[in-house]
Amino acid sequence: MYRPSGHGYIEMVVGPMYSGKSEELIRRLTRAKIAKQEVIVFKPSIDDRYSVKDVVSHSGIAIQAVAVNDLDTIWDFITDKTQVAGFDEVQFFNQGIVDIVIKLADMGVRVICAGLDMDFKAIPFGVIPELLARAEFVDKLQAVCVKCGDPATRTQRIIDGKPARYEDPVILVGATESYEARCRKCHQIGV
Ligand code: ADP
Ligand code: ZN
Repeated sequence: MYRPSGHGYIEMVVGPMYSGKSEELIRRLTRAKIAKQEVIVFKPSIDDRYSVKDVVSHSGIAIQAVAVNDLDTIWDFITDKTQVAGFDEVQFFNQGIVDIVIKLADMGVRVICAGLDMDFKAIPFGVIPELLARAEFVDKLQAVCVKCGDPATRTQRIIDGKPARYEDPVILVGATESYEARCRKCHQIGV
């Protein structure tokens, strides 16, 4: 893919869980570091999937990141030397992230955002639609459907062994929840 140098732009890496978004983000950021570019990585601090300060993929590769709660703290880590800024799990940031991403790109920073395009109901996730529209480059990745082996575009949420229902809250107390990659045909919403 053609990547202009010398001015900023926005790259989006989206897809369901297990599609390799974190791997792809880490791959791009690692290559920028090899090119001796000044790189900074952020993730929302609510995501402590494996470790608090690293972005870690399901395959185990990792890169050091700053876990942020208050979006304003992002500016504490941006300097006039920053060339590349990565954001993982960008769907969990609030609306304020859009202006930050745009401002960074306008300042000349290459911004790479990875995140879920849809929630477990297959509804577009938070700020993602707006970021997709504003990005110069968009990559939609697929996982492997755990049911049939086809390319998986959706995230299946399972609560206590059953497909989550449309009205299930985002956080369920006392339930065992898990997530699977599934295709359109195998994705289920309980009734
Ligand atoms: P994401 O950030 O999109 O959740 P990751 O980059 O963390 O994805 O993990 C991708 C890795 O997950 C794959 O390289 C593979 O090793 C592993 N994996 C586990 N289950 C699946 C699946 N159903 N489909 C594809 N990859 C899977
Ligand atoms: Zn399937």
